[in-house]
Amino acid sequence: MVKQLKTIKTDFPILDQKVNDEQLVYLDNAATTQKPKAVVEALDHYYYHDNANVHRGVHTLAERATEQFENAREKTAAFINAPSKRNILFTRGTTQSLNWIAASYGEQNIKAGDEIVISYMEHHSNLVPWQQLALRKHATLKYIGMHDDGTLDMAQAKELITDKTKIVSIAHVSNVLGVVNPLKALAALAHEHGAIMVGDGAQSVPHMPVDVQDLDVDFYAFSGHKMLGPTGIGGLYGKEALLNAMPPIEFGGEMIDFVDLYESSWKELPWKFEAGTPDISGAIGMGAAIDYLEAIGLDQVQKHEQAIVDYVLPKLLAIDDLEVYGPQDPSKHTGVIAFNLKGLHPHDLATALDMEGVAVRAGHHCAQPLMKYLSVPATARASFYLYNDFNDADRLVDAIKAAKEFFKNGAI
Ligand code: PMP
Repeated sequence: MVKQLKTIKTDFPILDQKVNDEQLVYLDNAATTQKPKAVVEALDHYYYHDNANVHRGVHTLAERATEQFENAREKTAAFINAPSKRNILFTRGTTQSLNWIAASYGEQNIKAGDEIVISYMEHHSNLVPWQQLALRKHATLKYIGMHDDGTLDMAQAKELITDKTKIVSIAHVSNVLGVVNPLKALAALAHEHGAIMVGDGAQSVPHMPVDVQDLDVDFYAFSGHKMLGPTGIGGLYGKEALLNAMPPIEFGGEMIDFVDLYESSWKELPWKFEAGTPDISGAIGMGAAIDYLEAIGLDQVQKHEQAIVDYVLPKLLAIDDLEVYGPQDPSKHTGVIAFNLKGLHPHDLATALDMEGVAVRAGHHCAQPLMKYLSVPATARASFYLYNDFNDADRLVDAIKAAKEFFKNGAI
């Protein structure tokens, strides 16, 4: 990496602490990431010096706040290679972004008999909004399955995506299986049949270079807090023609052009969708996170995480009784690694790892249909990011081995 790893860790003061008398190893990055000083300082600076409401003030602070807020939008657009800041709506995060597409585009364009295609590996955020839209509209929701190694079954995708399909919505990277889905090929397939392609970028945007124009997706959703930014802010990319044709979802201040007693008109993009006072500091914080990531380079972040996966995945696979989900080939696996130790509930495993200072998540990871598909109630999940290193990977492996020994000896 351009920056030395050691230097990177020091940018994240929270990592410098002991948990249960052990040096913390934070491996819950798929849930949320830690924040570098630069992001916290950007929030601090905004509140100490520039805090004001945006867009409607002529005083100096309002102008400064507006400039920083809109500057963050431009950074966000450039970060995913959107053609313009008009393509970027600020939302609360991936969940709200996906709900907005379903509530606006879906409500306007889906009718009885239409089909929506997703996959069995979707996060509930990319499943329930489509399920509910399908129920409201008497449309049909269809699921693409996976091969045994967890990769998406593209042959099945080709069968399921037909002229009846109106929306295809797939995670770019799975938050459980760690696979990268072929969004560009899926978008081409969707477009061949006149459908739109939605990408859930919650686990991709933070970890690899993303180019929405190259992918040719119609919409793309992501969260600030999973890419070093604050919670409560995220983005929705949309193609301009689609966004222009869509009705706003919420109404109120900020999004109107003109209000009369019995009718109103809306601002142009992107403000037409952003009713009320937005998360100004959140957007500025996400902008600072983007600056931080770009200074390192997303290609470097991706390379670094891949090196950790290349190192740790074979070690995990070598542990007897540890079932690892998703591809066993490290080149097909990103830094999200889900696993179960035979005979032990994943919550107990996660608690045992926490006793060793290693923070992982256990549960269904907001992917209950995927758990059903895998025939497991839950899994443990370690997820790596740019500040993790080989030592963190060793600590995970050692902690799993220690838990295995501990519970094998009946110490339950
Ligand atoms: N999709 C995927 C693939 C995710 O991993 C997550 C977060 N776990 C979400 C959507 C939802 O993101 P948020 O909670 O930030 O809205």
